[in-house]
Amino acid sequence: MKYTVLGKSGLRVSVIGLGGIPVQRIDPAATRELIDALLEQGINFIDSARGYTVSEEYLGAALEGRRERFILASKSMARSKAEMARDIDLSLKNFRTDHIELYQLHNLGVNEIERAFAPDGAAAAVEEAIRAGKVGHLGITAHSPQALRRLLDYQQVETVMFPFNIVENQAEEAMRIAHERNIGFIAMKPLAGGNIDDGRLAMRYILNEPNCTMAIPGMYCAAEVAQNSSAVDDLSPLTEEEQVQIAAIRERLADNFCRRCGYCAPCSAGIDIPACFTMANYLQHYQLADWARSRYLAYAAHAEDCIGCGKCEERCPYQLPIREKLQEIKKIFGK
Ligand code: SF4
Ligand code: SF4
Repeated sequence: MKYTVLGKSGLRVSVIGLGGIPVQRIDPAATRELIDALLEQGINFIDSARGYTVSEEYLGAALEGRRERFILASKSMARSKAEMARDIDLSLKNFRTDHIELYQLHNLGVNEIERAFAPDGAAAAVEEAIRAGKVGHLGITAHSPQALRRLLDYQQVETVMFPFNIVENQAEEAMRIAHERNIGFIAMKPLAGGNIDDGRLAMRYILNEPNCTMAIPGMYCAAEVAQNSSAVDDLSPLTEEEQVQIAAIRERLADNFCRRCGYCAPCSAGIDIPACFTMANYLQHYQLADWARSRYLAYAAHAEDCIGCGKCEERCPYQLPIREKLQEIKKIFGK
């Protein structure tokens, strides 16, 4: 494994970490085996979230007796100080620890930033937890390039987590700025939400980007950990053959993959279009049907609410057939 420093947090992390979403689909015994595999490969960074149902809890149990060998990160969608303080305590309890190295304000949209960084907002709770020794550092996660760009201006932000992979490079400019400001950049969705099968190639692509600090593929078994980690054995520049493979992946996913850029908003019917695509993706590629379904059903508007106005398609820079895709999503979720 190769190690690096996660921006101004100063944390010394493996360049590949564990994305904790798939832990939801295994059991406590398999989670222990997953932790064994991480140790075997030298991976020392684990990321989970309050929203990943049993993920924190299973990881906490599997980490008993070896917690100090890992850097733990989690995150919460809480936007108020009181809710965030409660979530930090829940994460500590689930992880069976008295400190979490990195706590992130999860999935901040452009319109939520001011609220989250207000004196009674979620960031204040993380800062208070840092002073109390419960949390080491404050980070954020986002899916919209506009939100990411704005968040880089907040002094408190030590790390950012954002989608970056062979087909999603909408953060390129923000990555450069993050690098200049010594803010750690964590690539989420390195396999484009399960749409890229070759983990080694996906990791080599990401780890060849000098402004990206590390990647956190979602992994649930030793074979996946080994495949993704194998990329680190050879971080030489991408070969011509790999460039051809990358071009083929881009072509395959060109008008068939939502980059979550948010340019299609606002939807006339109030549908969160990228969120619908993301949940459909989790259902189809992650074997997390129940979780994806419950998240999807909790949305205020669903694919069935689309009135077919087509405004979103005019705005989508990737010319995705959004209306057609929403019809498919309606079928798989039933509404
Ligand atoms: S076509 Fe459907 S999804 Fe697109 S903006 Fe109109 S109502 Fe929203
Ligand atoms: S549907 Fe198009 S515009 Fe909307 S988030 Fe996805 S890629 Fe971006």
